[in-house]
Amino acid sequence: HAKEDDRRHVAVFESFMSQRVDQHVSIESGLRQAIAQNQLNVLYQPQIDVASGRITAMEALIRWRHPTLGTISPLDFIPVAEQTGSIIPISQWLLRTACQDMLRWPGGSESGTRLAVNLSPVQLEHADFVKDTLRILHEVGFPPHRLEFEITEHLLMRDLESVVTILRKLSAHGITFAVDDFGTGYSSLSYLQRLPIHTLKIDQSFVRSLQEGREEGHLVGAIVSMGRSLGLKIVAEGVETQAQLDMLRRLKCNEMQGYLFSRPQAALDLSGEAVERWRSAVHG
Ligand code: C2E
Ligand code: MG
Ligand code: MG
Ligand code: MG
Repeated sequence: HAKEDDRRHVAVFESFMSQRVDQHVSIESGLRQAIAQNQLNVLYQPQIDVASGRITAMEALIRWRHPTLGTISPLDFIPVAEQTGSIIPISQWLLRTACQDMLRWPGGSESGTRLAVNLSPVQLEHADFVKDTLRILHEVGFPPHRLEFEITEHLLMRDLESVVTILRKLSAHGITFAVDDFGTGYSSLSYLQRLPIHTLKIDQSFVRSLQEGREEGHLVGAIVSMGRSLGLKIVAEGVETQAQLDMLRRLKCNEMQGYLFSRPQAALDLSGEAVERWRSAVHG
């Protein structure tokens, strides 16, 4: 039987692999048409200051509605877009769309709510990145100081000197930077001082281990006080429960993002009802 089982496993594996390859190929060819065919869209998730109940920022999260594969996660198609170069037009489309949505969002500008946009390391390697970014903001009429780019620690493992140069150029125009998924990469605290970083986003894995008791709060507490002493804003990601909210509050982390407040949602939904839902989550 062992032999037969082996053969069956091999067959299952091969069919799994060829599905994966097919999927990869259709992602690759489909991506080139995704913008033109109107298949990309952007969802938004608020970052909330639980002390005041104010929305401090909205993070733009891209989605791809594939005609046959359904909705594809950015975790699946961004890496392909990075390999094929389509990340550049896709990111430009996203920035333009998100800025326009934010300008149309009532309650956005008067409260100074910022727009958070994820950055791919590949974008930084593109020679026109700074110029293109500023041009899009100018064309749309979006104030640069309301834009925050989220970068990951992996990016900082690359050519730090050129990253420093690019970030400083954008920062001179008022654009700010957050380190996303903080604590999961190869952290060197020295880069926090060398780069114009404004915000640390504590990775959701820390938030989860807090509640599961695998972490008593020493780690998160240390990140918060270290960040504070460097003058950084701290945001906790992936907050799903009231217990997590309470623990984070105790650790003096007052800005949060997660399903407890709101799932990522369409620009049209960024109105009354959704906002009421998280308000009641904050105030109990
Ligand atoms: P990220 O920037 O760390 O975004 C946070 C992810 O966690 C999002 O997944 C969000 O939907 C999810 N999330 C938010 N709150 C909760 C929660 O309470 N619980 C759980 N379990 N998850 C939560 P999403 O939208 O699938 O995006 C995944 C990643 O894809 C993002 O991670 C980001 O790295 C990347 N990404 C998304 N949009 C873009 C984009 O426009 N450009 C680039 N380059 N990357 C993007
Ligand atoms: Mg992010
Ligand atoms: Mg993150
Ligand atoms: Mg992430």
